[in-house]
Amino acid sequence: MLGLTIREVSLALREGRISPTELCKKCLHRIKKTQRLNAYITVTEELALKQAQEAESRLLRGAPKGPLDGVPFAVKDNFCTESVRTTCASKMLKEYTPPYSATVVQKLLDQGAVLMGKTNMDEFAMGAGSTDGAFGPVRNPWSYAATYTDRTGAEPDSDWVITGGSSGGSAAAVASLTSYLALGSDTGGSTRNPGALCGVVALKPTYGLVSRHGLIPLVNSMDVPGIMTRSVSDAATVLSIIQGLDVRDSTTVHSPSSSAELPEEFDVKDICIGIPKEYHAPGLSRETLEQWSRVADMFERAGARVEQVSLPHTQHSIVCYHVLCHAEVASNMARFDGLEYGHRSEVDSSTDAMYAATRHEGFNDVVRGRILSGNYFLLQQNYERYFVKAQKVRRLIADDFKRVFGSGIDVLLTPTTLSDAARYTDFAQEDNRTRSAQEDVFTQPVNMAGLPAVSVPTALSSRGLPIGLQLIGPALQDRKLLTVARWVEQRVAFPSIDFHEDSCDAEVTKRKRTSPA
Ligand code: GLN
Repeated sequence: MLGLTIREVSLALREGRISPTELCKKCLHRIKKTQRLNAYITVTEELALKQAQEAESRLLRGAPKGPLDGVPFAVKDNFCTESVRTTCASKMLKEYTPPYSATVVQKLLDQGAVLMGKTNMDEFAMGAGSTDGAFGPVRNPWSYAATYTDRTGAEPDSDWVITGGSSGGSAAAVASLTSYLALGSDTGGSTRNPGALCGVVALKPTYGLVSRHGLIPLVNSMDVPGIMTRSVSDAATVLSIIQGLDVRDSTTVHSPSSSAELPEEFDVKDICIGIPKEYHAPGLSRETLEQWSRVADMFERAGARVEQVSLPHTQHSIVCYHVLCHAEVASNMARFDGLEYGHRSEVDSSTDAMYAATRHEGFNDVVRGRILSGNYFLLQQNYERYFVKAQKVRRLIADDFKRVFGSGIDVLLTPTTLSDAARYTDFAQEDNRTRSAQEDVFTQPVNMAGLPAVSVPTALSSRGLPIGLQLIGPALQDRKLLTVARWVEQRVAFPSIDFHEDSCDAEVTKRKRTSPA
């Protein structure tokens, strides 16, 4: 039951093969048994059981609210949840309980979905490994799968691999079968990167299609709520529920209402796939490259047109991202001053001393570092040189994509990450900035341009870890993008992971999982 897709479990609930309460209890049991993964910061056990009971009475009356009624879900801990603490994995917000829920969370609750808890992440979503949060690193569930062979055995339990980040807890929750869907956030790749490394489908919708109201901001001009599921069709279902204009987020756009189903009639012969040559980046692993070629060949053999394209300004994306991100961080983090909410230092010799001590104690060194450099970029004498210049290059990056999509390309196909997941002990050697620069090369330009992109798991590496590929589409063509992604999903035969009832240990079944029609 726990390994099913949303669509499958929803049917099981309606047919009475399992009740929402039983399902909720099973997930809670698994959360306890897989605590070693550190996927959740807060488990909302009582609330979940109450919501499950309500779903149960609706289902018994034959009046479900929709396809998510009674379906367990998890939310990254940077989305506000009414009466459930929301920490951003930071000491600064360790005790913060919001008085309202983010629009996306509320929309899922309104559909009867059952909130299992808030998931672990990098502090304030700054990172690419889920290793830099105040609640400790998240472990990739695949570290415990029988297929994972790259074990040194040097020290007990030292071989586990990272989930990627910053939404690693959400990816781990979906991959380790404690939730059927999870919300992440995606500013530079934080949903797609852990999605790829944990073997789940991860969608970053078009900027503006989904409300950011209640998502604690990292980079307001790039942040988008992301969706993680076990199938592409499930991602489409969730998108149809959470998308739409929101009066509380002035950057949301009107989009035609869409059904939860992806269109059945889709002829791959009608589409043109672009392969950006700049994505042959240094550090791309041989196996990821092989996957990329394999899927490109699949398209070609099936009759799609596959063309090499160029996105020449992509190479500058990471550098510009750092300038823009740090500048927005510097202003976003100004609100955490110890007065209104969150942590407040005991130091009280003066107001300034209290501010300084609060921020020193409350933020980790990654956040403090970004505030410092962001303020530097925003100094009057630097503003033109750094911030304005980075904005101009951002426009060039977006124009590259526009030109390519304007020339008849429907979808771009790229790797999601350079390789499969790194061992924690190796990843921890590098600093946060170096890691993000490496991990986000393929995902980050998409946020600069505000485009939709989805990562689909395609294979296991020789180490027994997931590899994902990314599909990128033109703005607001999220459904078309997902339709192409489903075509890939149905053909790559990514194996599914079957966990032992009572532990993290898992077998991997070489069975093909396809999105049901
Ligand atoms: N790794 C990037 C950063 O640290 C992106 C993070 C994200 O998408 N939230 O800024």
